Parts: sequence; C-alpha cells; structure tokens
Amino acid sequence: MTVNTQLRQLPQIEALLGLPAIAALIAEFSRDEVVSALRLTLAKLRRTIVAGDAADLPDFAGHIFTTQIRDLITQGRRSNLRPVINATGIIIHTNLGRARLAPEAIQAMQDVAAHPTNLELNLRTGKRGSRYDHVEALICDLTGAQAAIVVNNCAAAVVLSLMGTAMGRKVVASRGELVEIGGSFRLPDVIAQSGAILKEVGATNKTRVSDYANAIDQDTAVLMKSHTSNFKIIGFTAAPDRRDLAKLAKDHDLILMEDLGSGVLIDLAPYGLTDEPVVADILKAGVDLVMFSGDKLLGGPQAGIIAGRADIITGLKSHPLLRALRIDKLSLAALEATLRLYRAPHDPLERIPVLKMVSEPVAQVQARAAALADMLEGLGAISVAPSAAYVGGGSLPQQDLQSYTVAVDRAGMTAQVLANALRGAPVPVIGRIHQDQLLLDIRTVTDADLPFIVDAIRQARPS
Ligand SMILES: *Cc1c(COP(=O)(O)O)cnc(C)c1O
Repeated sequence: MTVNTQLRQLPQIEALLGLPAIAALIAEFSRDEVVSALRLTLAKLRRTIVAGDAADLPDFAGHIFTTQIRDLITQGRRSNLRPVINATGIIIHTNLGRARLAPEAIQAMQDVAAHPTNLELNLRTGKRGSRYDHVEALICDLTGAQAAIVVNNCAAAVVLSLMGTAMGRKVVASRGELVEIGGSFRLPDVIAQSGAILKEVGATNKTRVSDYANAIDQDTAVLMKSHTSNFKIIGFTAAPDRRDLAKLAKDHDLILMEDLGSGVLIDLAPYGLTDEPVVADILKAGVDLVMFSGDKLLGGPQAGIIAGRADIITGLKSHPLLRALRIDKLSLAALEATLRLYRAPHDPLERIPVLKMVSEPVAQVQARAAALADMLEGLGAISVAPSAAYVGGGSLPQQDLQSYTVAVDRAGMTAQVLANALRGAPVPVIGRIHQDQLLLDIRTVTDADLPFIVDAIRQARPS
C-alpha cells in the first residue's frame, strides 16, 4: 500500500466521535479530552505512515484502540509532578525529591496552607513579627548555637553567609574542599558570585593549619571549611582539626564557617554512619557559623539553616538580599514540625522517615523483600539478594547500609524495557539496573508501596 493510500484511510475525528465505544468515552470523560486524545493519536499515526514504517492501521472501533485513547486521557488528567516509588536504595535521592516528610510535618503544612497564620505577626504584642523567630529557639536548643536563621536551601545559606561577611574580602579555603555539589553549584564559583575573593590553600590531598595561617592578610575575612559531600580523598591525606582552625580564626579576629551540606542533629554512628559529625559538636569545636540543608539527613523540607554566633546572624538578618532567599511559610511549618520531633516525648528515629530508613534493622528489610517476592509469585522470575543501600544527598558517599533487593525478570522483556514500563505505571516505580537485571532495593521501599509495585509489574508491557 502506498503512503498516500494509507493516509487516505485515516479517519476524520468527526467520524470517530460517532463510534459507540468513543461516544462512551465522551460520556465518561469529556468531549474536549476525547477530541484532544484522538487528535494526538491520529497525528502520531500520520507521522509513522509518512516515515514509511506504518504497520496495519488499528481497528478504530475495537477495544485496543479505545483502551489506548482511554489511557491517554487518564494520563492527561494526572499531575506531571506526582508520587513515585523509590526502589533505588538511595534514601535521599535528589532526583526523587529527597526527604519525605513525617506525618506531623505534612499536617503542619496543611494547617498553614488552609488558614491565615501568624507568619509575621507577634501574637503577644500584636505588632509585626519575624518569620525567622518561629524556629530559631528550636535550632539553638538542638545545636547549642547562640542564634540561627533559615533560608530557601543550603545553597542560599552559603551565599547569604558569604555575602554578609566577606563581600569584597578574602575567603581562605582548602583545595581539597572546593567541591561541586551537582547542578553546577561549585564552591569556587559561589564564593566569587557572592562578591568574595577566594584564596585557595594547600594541596588536593593535604592542607595544614599553617597553610591557612600563611594565607591570612589584612583583607581576609573568613576561613571556610566545606563538607566534601560526594567524594572522598583517601590515602595520604590531611585536613586541619576544627579546633586549631577555630583558634587561628579567633587570634586574627576572623570568622570560621563550615558548609556542612547534610548536617545531622543526632549521632548516627550506632547505625554504621560514623563519618558524619553532629552539628552541635562542630559548633562546640569553635566553628562560628555552620550551614546545612533541611531536606537531607535532617529529614525535613527544602530549607537552609545557618546557625552560630549571634553577632554574625544579626547581620545576616538585616541583609538587603535576605528577602530574595527567604523560606516560604509551608516549608517553615514543615521545618518547625520536623525539628520538634527531635525533642521529647518524640523519638526522631521512629517519626522521621529518613532516619527511620537509615536505622531500620536489616532483618526487617529482608522480611519486606521476602514479602514482596511472595506477592510477585507467578509474575516472572523473582529472586531476593543482599545489597548495599546509600544515604545519598551528598552524605557519606562511601558508607553503605546493608539492604536487600528483589530482582525481577519478565520473559520477553529486557531489564531496560521492564524499567521503562515500571516508570510508565500509574504510580511509577524507580529501580536500578545491575548486570542486565532490574533490581528493586527494599530499604527505601515501605510496606504501603508493595501493592503498587505488584500492580506496576503485573501491568508491565513492552512499549
Ligand atoms: C547539598 C549540599 C549543598 C546544597 O544544599 P541544598 O539544600 O541542596 O541547597 C551545599 N553544600 C554541601 C556541602 C552540600 O552537600
């Protein structure tokens, strides 16, 4: 059949609308949605025919075509941004929205979303209040800081801290710590864009206190440390002790600041995570200002926290660009609720999902993997095996958490095809491919996720 003959056989939209099965779709959805789904489908067919690789035209009155149109309409009704299942084994996955929130934090967001709030009203005096007051005391209580302020994210926290303390002056930083976080957040560029002048010292693998000391001159304002979040230099290495740097900063009347990235409020060593220092200990060592994220190991919403010396924070609070970096009320509500879960009578390891996933005993993960394998019986070749999960979000790149995976093999589908199909499910499931096998890591999957995973695999078709 020639291309032209095939094109002529494509029906008009009006004709399709008269078919009983399509009329039923109009009754169920709306005429506009059906017309637009038909238009998309016919245009796609037309392109295939013109490209010369047309298969037979579908039976436009038949079940398969109608189902295709129905799927397209349902897809169109779904939000673009929507829940997925994280079966990657990376707990704080930046592409998957990082930390999921505790029920208390979700409730707090709902409350302030639905009602007017005292965001910037002091209820005691009736005068204007500050949005930053709602969490400052909590942060101070949990970290031992004199003062604190929260902004949009940790990147904003770093920018504000530098703008507020080192504009036009020198910031001394170690060559081994000038990191790129991802998404083009490179510390050297951020320092430059904040109006400060970067003075690099030391070597990639070794930097000593004397390197910092030798770099100090009358233009120096800040000594900066940064968490080498997503890499580790091993072997012949040295970095100065915080206490020594703190003494050096004090002797020269400089500010010692540290970009922590993740920032943990409780010791996670009992769960095998020994490389992540607790914020309170860092401040105790004499660091003047620390910056950390709200949605990494803290387990809250996107936010950036700056904690430390009161005189410096007071300056940041009146910075002319603070408003451009400020936190919104929904995040603020979720942050306050999350921080409260770190205090009695709560147990943060029980209530905060990120910490719960980090600390869950591996036997429990294994039991959940076995339960999923049982539920998947008959849907392919299923196997359970030990694996390594990671905290993610730039924390602890080399420390893994024991976990279990469920591997799924479907006859006639490669791992890649199966992964694509699971991403296309109504609740998309995101796993990882290892040696041509699709693996679902169960440390990041909850009991409530399991039925959705089963549905996604049952409905998986090559497309
Ligand atoms: C993640 C990270 C940041 C950026 O934090 P956001 O909250 O994503 O802005 C900054 N510095 C370090 C060291 C990080 O790990």
